[in-house]
Amino acid sequence: MSAQSDTLDASPIDSLRGVGPALRDKLARVGIVNLRDVLFHLPLRYEDRTRITPIGSITPGETVVLEGEVIACDISFGKRRSLLAYLSDGTGKVALRFFHFNRQQQIGLKHAHIRCYGEVRRGAAGLEIYHPEYITDTNSPLAQHLTPVYPVTEGLSQSRVRSLVDQVLNLMDDGKLLKDIPLGKESLVAQDINQALHIIHRPPADIKLEALQDGTHPAQQRLAFEELLAHQTSMRLVREEMAQLQAFSFAPPAATCQALKESLAFELTAAQQRVLAEVAEDLGRDQPMLRLVQGDVGSGKTVVAALAAAQCLENQLQVAVMAPTELLAEQHYKNFSQWLVPLGVEVAWLAGKVKGKQRKAELAAIQSGQAGIVIGTHALFQKEVLFDRLGLVIIDEQHKFGVLQRLALREKGERQGRMPHQLVMTATPIPRTLTMSLYADMDCSVIDELPPGRTPVTTSVLPDTRRDEVVARVMSACEQGAQAYWVCTLIEESEVLECQAAEVTAETLTAQLGGLRVRLIHGRMSGDEKTQIMADFKQGQVDLLVATTVIEVGVDVPNASLMVIENPERLGLAQLHQLRGRIGRGISKSYCVLLYHPPLGLTSKQRLNVMRESSDGFYIAEQDLKIRGPGEMFGQRQSGSLQFRIADLVRDQHMLDAVSRTSRSLLASDRAAALTIMHRWLTMPEAFSQV
Ligand code: ADP
Ligand code: MG
Repeated sequence: MSAQSDTLDASPIDSLRGVGPALRDKLARVGIVNLRDVLFHLPLRYEDRTRITPIGSITPGETVVLEGEVIACDISFGKRRSLLAYLSDGTGKVALRFFHFNRQQQIGLKHAHIRCYGEVRRGAAGLEIYHPEYITDTNSPLAQHLTPVYPVTEGLSQSRVRSLVDQVLNLMDDGKLLKDIPLGKESLVAQDINQALHIIHRPPADIKLEALQDGTHPAQQRLAFEELLAHQTSMRLVREEMAQLQAFSFAPPAATCQALKESLAFELTAAQQRVLAEVAEDLGRDQPMLRLVQGDVGSGKTVVAALAAAQCLENQLQVAVMAPTELLAEQHYKNFSQWLVPLGVEVAWLAGKVKGKQRKAELAAIQSGQAGIVIGTHALFQKEVLFDRLGLVIIDEQHKFGVLQRLALREKGERQGRMPHQLVMTATPIPRTLTMSLYADMDCSVIDELPPGRTPVTTSVLPDTRRDEVVARVMSACEQGAQAYWVCTLIEESEVLECQAAEVTAETLTAQLGGLRVRLIHGRMSGDEKTQIMADFKQGQVDLLVATTVIEVGVDVPNASLMVIENPERLGLAQLHQLRGRIGRGISKSYCVLLYHPPLGLTSKQRLNVMRESSDGFYIAEQDLKIRGPGEMFGQRQSGSLQFRIADLVRDQHMLDAVSRTSRSLLASDRAAALTIMHRWLTMPEAFSQV
C-alpha cells in the first residue's frame, strides 16, 4: 500500500456495485455518503467463525460454530411453544431451540447434517442455543478471518454492509487510499491509517478474537487516537472561532431573574448558585461564552439554565433551548413555560412534528422577536429558522448533537455580527481527572451537590433465576400505587432486535401481571407515540412501563419508584447510573433491582456492586475507571452521551495528553490536515440523532 492517490474521500457511494438510489438514501441516513465513510463505519465487535468446536467441550456463555447431526427434532410445549432440535457430533449433545419456526424447517432439520453458530446457554433441555444461524451445506469453507459485526439499521443488513466494506477494501488493495496524516512521534501509534482500517475490517487470519476484544490492538489504538484527536480538534476549532467573534455583553441578573427565583418552590443549592455566578460572569463579556455545566442526574441543571435564560431575556435577546429528543424537548418546554410565561415571556415550540400552520406561526414569532424563548430538537438548526436577536443557546446533552452542528449555530447569530453565548448541559459525570483533557479548552462548571431531602435509591443485585420474586415485587408495589419501569437491554448491533426483545418481555409481563396496566416504549416508535405513552405514564395511567434504554435521559416522573434493569451487566456504569436516575425523584422511597444473567465474571460483579454502594455519579465514574478490566468493554454499549465509535475514554485515557498536544500542533502546522481528520470522524447521521 504505497500509492499516493487520495480518491476514496471523493468517490461517491454509488460508485460501488449494487448501490442504487434507494440504498444510497438509506446509507445517507446513517451518514455514509462516500467511500471514506464506509471505511469509518467501524465494527462493533467480532465473531469467531474460523473453527468448529467439539460439542463436548462447550460451556455456557461461549459463542461457537458447531457441526453435527440432528438426532431429534420435535415441538416442545413449555412456557412458550418452540422447536427443539438436538445436535450431536459424537463428543456431546446440545439443544437448538427456535421460538419462531415453520413446519418446513422442522422437516428440513430432521436427521440433517448442519453447521450452526450461536451462543451457548443453560436451558430447560440442558445446554441450549436459541435461534442459531445454521446451514445444511457443511462443505462450504469456514471463515478465514474474524467476522466483523457492524452497526446496522432497518433495511440495511449485516451482509449488505459487509459487502460494501469488502468492495472498498478491494479498492484499497488496488492502491486507492486515504491520505495518511502522520500524527507525530507523540501519538504512540505508528500505524498508517489505511493499514489500521484494513486490519479493523478484515483482520488477518493470525489475529485471534482475544486480540481485538478489548480494543487495545495497535490498529484499534491508532483509530482511537485519531478519533479522540478529531474530537479535541473540533472543540479547539469551535473555541478558536468563537474567540474571534463578538457577543452581546449582558447586564448582571436583575428583576426577571429575581422574580423567577422567588417563584420557585425551593431555594437554590450552594452549587447551583456558584455555577450561576460563573455563567453570569461569562455572559457579561463581549466574547461568546462556551461553558459546559456538568451535573449528576437530579442535580437541578434545568433551573440553572432557566435563570441564565432569564438574564438573556432581560437584555432583550432571544434564547434557544435544544434537547436531543422530542420527549426531552417537550419536558423542557413545559418547565420553561411554567417558569417564564407568568413573567410575561412568550415561549415558542419547534420540533420535527410541528408542521403546517403552527410551524409557520412559531417561525414567524421567532423571526419577529415576539417569542423570547424557543425550545425544540435539532429542528432548531434548520435554515428556515431565523432569529431576531439570538443571545444565548442552551444545549442539553451535548454529544448527541456533535460539534459540527454547533459550528452551524454561528450562522444563526451572524445576522447581527454577534455570536450567541453557548451553555451546554451534560448529565454524564466523567472523572475529574479526565475532564480537562477531554473537553480541551472548554470552560467547565460542576453542580456537585444534590438538592436536600432526596432519599437515595436502594439498589439490589439479583440473578435472573429470581425473576419470579422480582415480578411479584413489581405487582405488590404497583398495587400500592407506585409506578415502575422494567428496562430491557440487549447487546445487539440492531435496534430492531432490541425492540423485538422488549416486545416479548412486555407480553410476558402483561400475562404475569394480570390487572396491572403495562405499556411498552421503545426507540422505533414515532416521536408522537413515545410522547403520548410518557404522558400517560406521567399522569399515572400506566403502572408498569417496559422500556428499552430510550428512557435514559431526563425523563421526570416523580411517582415512579421502582426500576428493574434486565442484564445490567451489558451496560456501562454511567449508563446504569443515568437509567437509575429516573427514579428517586419523588417523596417515596425508591428501589432499583439489577437483574443479571449468571454466571457473572468477577469484574462485572464488582461493577454492579459499585451501583449498589453508591449513587454519586462522579464516584461511580471513578470506580468505572478503576475496575474496568481488559477484555470487557470493546463492543459493550458505552456510557450514555459520550459515544465514540472506537475510542473509550477509560481504556484510552493514557492517550489523552498526547492527543491534546498533537491537536494543538496539528492545528498550528497543518490546519487542512486537522480539518481532514475532523471530517472523517464527525458526521452527524440523521437517523442516530433521532433516537
Ligand atoms: P437534572 O440536573 O437531572 O436535569 P432537574 O433540573 O430535572 O435535574 O431537577 C430535578 C428536580 O429537582 C426537578 O424536579 C427540580 O424542580 C428539582 N430541583 C432543582 N433544584 C432544586 C433545589 N435547589 N431544591 C429542590 N429541588 C430542586
Ligand atoms: Mg435534565
